[in-house]
Amino acid sequence: MADRNLRPFLKIRNLTKIFGSFAALNNISLDVLEGQFICFLGPSGCGKTTLLRAIAGLDIQTSGTIEQAGRDISSLPPTERDFGIVFQSYALFPNLSVKRNIAYGLENKRIAKSTIKKHVNELLQLVGLSEHGEKYPSQLSGGQQQRVAVARALATSPGLLLLDEPLSALDAKVRAHLRHEIKTLHQKIGVTTIMVTHDQEEALTLADQIVIMNEGVIDQIGTPLEIYDHPASPFVADFIGTMNFIDGTVLSNGKVIHGNVEIDVAEGTRDFTTGDKVRVCFRPEDVSILNDNDKHEGANTMTIAETEFLGSFHRIHFILPGETEPALRADISANRARKMNIKVGSKQRVVLDKSLIRLYPNTYEI
Ligand code: ATP
Repeated sequence: MADRNLRPFLKIRNLTKIFGSFAALNNISLDVLEGQFICFLGPSGCGKTTLLRAIAGLDIQTSGTIEQAGRDISSLPPTERDFGIVFQSYALFPNLSVKRNIAYGLENKRIAKSTIKKHVNELLQLVGLSEHGEKYPSQLSGGQQQRVAVARALATSPGLLLLDEPLSALDAKVRAHLRHEIKTLHQKIGVTTIMVTHDQEEALTLADQIVIMNEGVIDQIGTPLEIYDHPASPFVADFIGTMNFIDGTVLSNGKVIHGNVEIDVAEGTRDFTTGDKVRVCFRPEDVSILNDNDKHEGANTMTIAETEFLGSFHRIHFILPGETEPALRADISANRARKMNIKVGSKQRVVLDKSLIRLYPNTYEI
């Protein structure tokens, strides 16, 4: 028997959305498996909300198709689609109690009052608001209101939960807490969920698959680890986490030269030939600063231009040999920084882990 989890639950094909002469979505194709938690992530204006609204039928696409659970929903109005949605602004009815807000979608469905009451109580419990059912939205905190919005979206037991930046109006602490709750909730009920966010930390912690969008197209689809460790383009590398970018020229022997610094990139030069202009990318946490008595042949000596204390780690900004401006960042734990002589102006021997270096053609504007 075929594994039902391998069948795409949502099948998006060649979706394009034109506003005037502007393509907000440009030929997007995407499969979402049943039960997955997907994040659409990208900078402002990349088209993530437009894509979510097309899936909901709130903004019909200019061309392309959407299938949900084997049904072509491309031209159906929102009321005939099977989803629950939560917006950034909680959009609760201010004159209805929490219970009535949650029950709203069920009251129009000719369901017995006793069944509705039972279901609403279950949903209240699910989002941890059992004590607050009789209150009105204005008597709740932002985080609590958003939990009501989630319960309301789930009330009709939809096949798809759509979350449009649901946490961005909340302060950082509440946001982190609710993020955790959303993840637990998803693990509990397993509803296929798509969340729009511009917050990479949110996407990295919540998503099974992240869809990285840029100017109306999908740049990469992958698990958080795949995207972090193997960004498909300099755009993704730049957008997710912190990345060092150093421009250079490929030498014949698996090395890139930048000024008078040789960077050993080993396998990375496979797709390039000698003389190609490339961009060398590596993360600050993959840079090692050697201790005085460590021996290493490939180390480069660099000068510390600046240090930043970032809580659990320090970010050191280095000036490359023969240059005047800092061009390389290295992260070291606060613990190690305490034991080392990290002083602006001091020289350190620095090593890059060649297996963690990525090379891209030098075409992307940073
Ligand atoms: P943000 O994070 O800022 O919400 P987004 O990635 O969700 O960004 P969208 O809201 O999908 O971006 O918008 C994508 C592009 O389409 C933007 O350039 C936006 O200005 C444009 N756009 C969206 N809706 C309309 C509309 N109704 N009419 C004209 N242009 C629109």
